[in-house]
Amino acid sequence: MNDVLHATQVVIEQALKRLGYGDDMIELLKEPIRLLTVRIPVRMDDGTTLVFTGYRSQHNDAVGPTKGGVRFHPGVTEKEVKALSIWMSLKCGIADLPYGGGKGGIICDPRKMSFRELERLSRGYVRAISQLVGPTKDIPAPDVMTNSQIMAWMMDEYSRIREFDSPGFITGKPIVLGGSKGRETATARGVVIMIHEALRLKAIPIEGARIVIQGFGNAGSYLAKFMHEAGARVIGISDVNGALYNKEGLDIPHLLDRRDSFGNVTNLFPNTITNEQLLELDCDVLVPAAIENQITELNAGNIQASIIVEAANGPTTLEATRILTDRGVLLIPDVLASAGGVIVSYFEWVQNNQGYYWDEDEIDHKLKVMMIRGFENVYDIHQTRKVDMRLAAYMVGVRKMAEAVRYRGWV
Ligand code: GLU
Repeated sequence: MNDVLHATQVVIEQALKRLGYGDDMIELLKEPIRLLTVRIPVRMDDGTTLVFTGYRSQHNDAVGPTKGGVRFHPGVTEKEVKALSIWMSLKCGIADLPYGGGKGGIICDPRKMSFRELERLSRGYVRAISQLVGPTKDIPAPDVMTNSQIMAWMMDEYSRIREFDSPGFITGKPIVLGGSKGRETATARGVVIMIHEALRLKAIPIEGARIVIQGFGNAGSYLAKFMHEAGARVIGISDVNGALYNKEGLDIPHLLDRRDSFGNVTNLFPNTITNEQLLELDCDVLVPAAIENQITELNAGNIQASIIVEAANGPTTLEATRILTDRGVLLIPDVLASAGGVIVSYFEWVQNNQGYYWDEDEIDHKLKVMMIRGFENVYDIHQTRKVDMRLAAYMVGVRKMAEAVRYRGWV
């Protein structure tokens, strides 16, 4: 099993060293500053009580409040949540948001829970972490298998505890509860902008470009839609059960129509390939948009894409990053490519704080400006400092935080 926390710490250390920081800064930033483990009793529909374990990790709050999603997944671990909170710091640093990174997770399988059980779990989690979070402390959001409905319950529970309406406590809410236009599609929009930049560098026209997407959740499904609309050919998609492939291009509108709320669709088709086969398809752009550790030293040599854009958090191991970089594959790392979600979350929080709401064009324009600036900063470091794209992204991502730590006199 590849240890995502250890892998992150290795690159954080390299990045801080290259930026000229010493062991004290590395010692502080390689671990979250705060980690809360909670036990959440939930009354199930059959009358029994199950006790769930959850976490909230705050990497560092020198720049500002911490920010990041909450995932509901059976595979959640303390180490994973810690790593995810560090990645959030890097995303916020690259996008130049006034936040540090945070992340939460609950070990559960929402696919096996009823609507009301999920509501009780979401509210119980907020009660358990309420001391630690808040609009100026730590701001949660959606992540794997959580959505705007879950954000609505969490916001409602927090507002009840505090006894005033607190839309700025959480982002990714439904629009009627202070959610932002464009938040639902934001991660995919950001990935689209990165694909355009990467195709431009490789001189591949978007028209007819062959795209393979692993995962058909929030990021993967909207990405398939936008790529299809842009005239690219989405030749492969997948979910947890398997993958679909058609070298002429899949019927994306049909697949979007048939997917369930967890992104399952391949079970409706007889001719599927495996997720492993999907990753090795002959294509121009491969987008891992599912979970961690999908591209490893075992399959990196077989990947045929010339561009990889990481929409998921942590899909590629460090060894695989090295193999792909040596092979000349252009890799746009997760902490840059998937920053669209937290960027529009930031817009949502700003709108909640000011009580004035922007239209979708304004959101899309601002998102584009921030994503492209992030890309240019990372690409520039990649070229001038002769480091791979992942290390370049970490250098850009951790720079502001380290400076803030210094100014505050913590190290
Ligand atoms: N969960 C998303 C991420 O990993 C979004 C976080 C947010 O909007 O705060 O980037």
